[in-house]
Amino acid sequence: MKTIVIGAGAAGLTAAATLAKAGHEVTIVDHNPVSGGVLRGWQAKGFTWDLGQLLIEGLGPDEPIGEIMQDLGIFDQVKTILDERRYVFPDFDLQKPENYQGVKWRIDRLKQEFPEDTAGLDRYWNDYMRFVHLMTVARQLKKQENSNSLIDKVRLIWAILPFFTRRDWTAEQLMRSYFSSEKLRAVFISILADFFTPPSQFQGLGVFALNPETSFDKRIPQQLKNNIVQLNFYSFLGGTRTLVDALEGVIAAHNGQIRLGQDVTRVIVADGKVTGVELNHSEILEADLVLASGGADELFFDLIGKEQLLEETIQKVNELPLMDSVFMVHLGLDIDPKPFIGGTCTYYYRTYDIEGAILQGKQGHYHEGKDGFVVHVPTHHSPEMAPDAHHAMTIYTICPDTLSNGTWKDQKELFADQLIQLAEEYFPGLNDHIVHRVIFTAEEFRELTHTKHHAFGGLAPIMGKDGFPHQTPIEGLWFIGHQSESGGGLMNVIPAAYRVAKKLSI
Ligand SMILES: Cc1cc2nc3c(=O)[nH]c(=O)nc-3n(C[C@H](O)[C@H](O)[C@H](O)COP(=O)(O)OP(=O)(O)OC[C@H]3O[C@@H](n4cnc5c(N)ncnc54)[C@H](O)[C@@H]3O)c2cc1C
Repeated sequence: MKTIVIGAGAAGLTAAATLAKAGHEVTIVDHNPVSGGVLRGWQAKGFTWDLGQLLIEGLGPDEPIGEIMQDLGIFDQVKTILDERRYVFPDFDLQKPENYQGVKWRIDRLKQEFPEDTAGLDRYWNDYMRFVHLMTVARQLKKQENSNSLIDKVRLIWAILPFFTRRDWTAEQLMRSYFSSEKLRAVFISILADFFTPPSQFQGLGVFALNPETSFDKRIPQQLKNNIVQLNFYSFLGGTRTLVDALEGVIAAHNGQIRLGQDVTRVIVADGKVTGVELNHSEILEADLVLASGGADELFFDLIGKEQLLEETIQKVNELPLMDSVFMVHLGLDIDPKPFIGGTCTYYYRTYDIEGAILQGKQGHYHEGKDGFVVHVPTHHSPEMAPDAHHAMTIYTICPDTLSNGTWKDQKELFADQLIQLAEEYFPGLNDHIVHRVIFTAEEFRELTHTKHHAFGGLAPIMGKDGFPHQTPIEGLWFIGHQSESGGGLMNVIPAAYRVAKKLSI
């Protein structure tokens, strides 16, 4: 079957590799001269920085992405290590203890910090265990997709039962049911800022999924009890590029074609069925199937055209809740930042008003680092990402795609200076050790993702809103990637693209 895949990011590469391996005649096309989408990494002056997801869930042999890598035969090529993140708040630091203190060290530490919420922390922990159990059962059932056994159904219902009455609660409501302290609530919901989703609009039960204990301390075992299994968190050794290279290798080994630096300018539809694509406004490639990643608005309105769409399709695309962007400053350093920064990935929060900060950002106001930022140092696990005795560091914040005041181009140097100045509060003298810097704004990301609005994690997980289904109303056209129903993040994008491709392989 002739298959065209639009976009060589995580979603497109996974789908193309799976279909090529299944015998499809695959051509994958990407606007960029380098494959990978936001996983491509960035190189300059001997330094390599990651641009996409920095801490990745589920890469182990029995975990969702690891299983896909095994099926594609690349598991041994892609080297990973267990990794974790650290949270620093204005009044306290949730750094893991030097000597391992058990699975509940974070809860115990928070009890010391917030003694008035001790009972709430115990209730939170009990519910966390129940939620991990529910996820464990759900994953087991997903693996045996055809299982309709009564026992399985009862197991799932039993696991859901403790949450049944709270299924429609928001994150804000759930947090208030445990904790009186705003600061403590922020510990569990601060990451929602990365999703551009105010706690009052996020599904309450999702809070447990945002706070896997393994992501805060890699020494915590996956298995907490029988049938209560957490996923682990990882970094790619050598950066996210290593996954891209391995997936490209599968496509090439199965005679797939990878066409880089080329734009799909039209998806050709005849009588409600896709028949191919137009490249660069000139060349036509015929196809039986087209799998498209990238932006929904761009695919449906620019490449297909509203005149070919049903009113409900137009409405669905218009209503998709897109995230906004990230402002990244990549630094080459002539010093090891470890004594100041700690591990690979540190989140410095500088406000407890998560709801307010997100709403400001959605209105186009950039906080310029004052609400917080993330510091990522991949050279702590992959020294080859910098010249000898040097380190690669990325400082990033979330930010609006479009500023309410001024342009990214005019202000990016100033914003970078300000961010470095704030980082110096934690890393005195940082500025004196910068030998190179590269700035990425929403404008660079729009170009890199070939979208008109950069949504760094794709769809915002707003309660009651879902994404665009993989199977589109146009026969033979499938929508994958972080603006599709899977949502963003590698743990969603890769398994979803793989499942769609498997379905089409038959
Ligand atoms: C800084 C950063 C941090 C992140 N952190 C997290 C995190 O902590 N947790 C999390 O869950 N997720 C995170 N993500 C999100 C995650 O990385 C993405 O959801 C995922 O990588 C998206 O993959 P994709 O293939 O859908 O899209 P992309 O990587 O955007 O790839 C799409 C590709 O399609 C190409 N394309 C589009 N249209 C066309 C066309 N018409 N013709 C030719 N080519 C086209 C683009 O050029 C692009 O290369 C992060 C992302 C960023 C940027």
